[in-house]
Amino acid sequence: MSEDHDATFARRRFLKLVGSSAVIVPIVGLTACSGGEDSAPKAAKPKVETDAPPAKPVEKPAEKPSAGGGMAKLSEDDPQAKSLAYVHDATQVDGSKQARYKPGQICENCALYQAGNDAEWGGCSIFPGRQVKATGWCSVYAPKVG
Ligand code: SF4
Repeated sequence: MSEDHDATFARRRFLKLVGSSAVIVPIVGLTACSGGEDSAPKAAKPKVETDAPPAKPVEKPAEKPSAGGGMAKLSEDDPQAKSLAYVHDATQVDGSKQARYKPGQICENCALYQAGNDAEWGGCSIFPGRQVKATGWCSVYAPKVG
């Protein structure tokens, strides 16, 4: 064999070896550097510029105990209201007909009154599902204790 032939053979062998590793090494290198999918850089969220002030968190108003909220208002013409001499305005109570009535007695200071969000109307356990007027009165009136 000639020296040229040996050199050609050696060069081919070298190129074959280098050529195959030239493909493998970059693949291995890229795989090792990428660190898998978790560490891949995430796409940055586009920042939207606006003139609007930053949104404030919505504050929920403090709620008083629910008593009467959303309930219908009791009518003086309601049969049960009539039977208990209920009126919206306690000053209209005829003391000669209602011996239990004493001036100053109103639903608002009755033990059965359930004040709620509405200052003028509240619940009453005598008239479930309806509201009575804070200034009202009925023959079941019972003074608040304390
Ligand atoms: Fe008003 Fe008391 Fe009569 Fe209820 S029981 S209607 S709160 S006076």
